[in-house]
Amino acid sequence: MAVPINPSSSPMTEKIKSVCGSGRKNSFCRLSPSPSPLTPPGGIARHGAAIYDDPKHDPYQVKHKYAEPTVCKDCGAVFHRGRWQWGDAPANAQQALCPACHRIRDRYPAGYVTLQGPYLKQHRDEITHMVRNSEGKEKTGHPLERIMAIEDTDAGILVTTTGTHMARDIAERVHEAYKGEVEFHYNKEDQLLRATWTR
Ligand SMILES: [Zn+2]
Repeated sequence: MAVPINPSSSPMTEKIKSVCGSGRKNSFCRLSPSPSPLTPPGGIARHGAAIYDDPKHDPYQVKHKYAEPTVCKDCGAVFHRGRWQWGDAPANAQQALCPACHRIRDRYPAGYVTLQGPYLKQHRDEITHMVRNSEGKEKTGHPLERIMAIEDTDAGILVTTTGTHMARDIAERVHEAYKGEVEFHYNKEDQLLRATWTR
């Protein structure tokens, strides 16, 4: 049900594959049942979290230095104590664009989620609705994690996101709810996550 990461694969790309057998309970559905150098015990949710969470790796956070406090002139998020948060901006806050709004203006996503397959085509509206709902849960605590666009494609649906967490979260939620098969390709250099869910 799980394929370990191939140590001989490109250092730029980690490939993780998870297939849940039908009839199994969710609790048994994990990317990797045993710890590996890249997958700590506890499974899917925390895999690679240290890398994803580290703003030093995000080119959009490296490129733009922010004074404290700074308020984003597009979305209103506030940069305070080294991170972007939702809240009221202090009167002395400088104005700038947060990394998420920069990505939106540049049309440069950090995450791509492809949802595809015959089942997707039959349940497109329902799954699209679920994806939109997923955004709120992640975005509430993380201003830089947002959906950029949800597009219909020949293959199914393409969801683009401003953060890798959001892309991962969407793919995992869809996988959890609808089973099927999900793959993640993470490009460390560009901090880019591509997730593909198929059913
Ligand atoms: Zn913003």
